[in-house]
Amino acid sequence: MREVLVVSPHLDDAVLSAGGRIAHLATAGARVTVFTVFAGVPTPPYSSVARAFHRSWGLDDNAVHHRREEDRRAIDHLMANAVHGDYPDAIYRTDSSGRWLISSGSQPTKHTAEDEGELTRTITVTVQELIGSLRPDLVLTCASVGDHIDHRHTCYAVRAAAKASGVALRLWTDQPYSSWTDEPFSPKTLGALPDALSARIGVHQPEAHWVDQEAWARKMAAIGEYKSQHSALWPGVADFDAVINEQARSLAEALGGSGRCELYWQESRPPGS
Ligand SMILES: [Zn+2]
Repeated sequence: MREVLVVSPHLDDAVLSAGGRIAHLATAGARVTVFTVFAGVPTPPYSSVARAFHRSWGLDDNAVHHRREEDRRAIDHLMANAVHGDYPDAIYRTDSSGRWLISSGSQPTKHTAEDEGELTRTITVTVQELIGSLRPDLVLTCASVGDHIDHRHTCYAVRAAAKASGVALRLWTDQPYSSWTDEPFSPKTLGALPDALSARIGVHQPEAHWVDQEAWARKMAAIGEYKSQHSALWPGVADFDAVINEQARSLAEALGGSGRCELYWQESRPPGS
């Protein structure tokens, strides 16, 4: 494996869900580029929801500049290259009638990327250009578990771009979304994606990736850099290392092994076939 492209919706998703595999690939000599789609620096004015997010992160209205710096330090731990896209996060976007996409009481997981079809197509072109210039042997992106609108855009766009070029694609299980269910590692959830998700992105086979001690240490150091996001990712949790460790160990156990795992998905059948 010489060249790998990782496409992350936000500044933290790739590390949270695929940090172990990225560290492995880089250690084995691959050049790994982590492209974050929704890393665009927004222009004011900001919605009250966006300002509330900034406050909850302990940041001012230069939040995205700060988060880009966190991401550069995180990706350094994985020995990969961080590239930041110009698309603004859902909390900074407006809908076709000019209203804020995410207002108080409306969740980014309740919107669909189908409402912003043109945005999906534009991101597809961006990812196609990246694939064209990097010529990766493998592309990793999110499966959009949890249905966040930005994760859906990313998943749809990368699937379309990868299909057009024929490059191998694996989807990661979005963390921490997948751990916010009651039984994240039941046999059912390990064997298949949720039905509604399969209907959108096709039937997929699970693929476990075992993470060794060194790659795990790099992943944890990288997650540690996203300090502004910790309270939102693990509300009320002081020791997030323990939580993530436990999840990765439970997953390994559920798969019949020991150690720590990340869970990926490979398409076996396209939607509707
Ligand atoms: Zn995200």
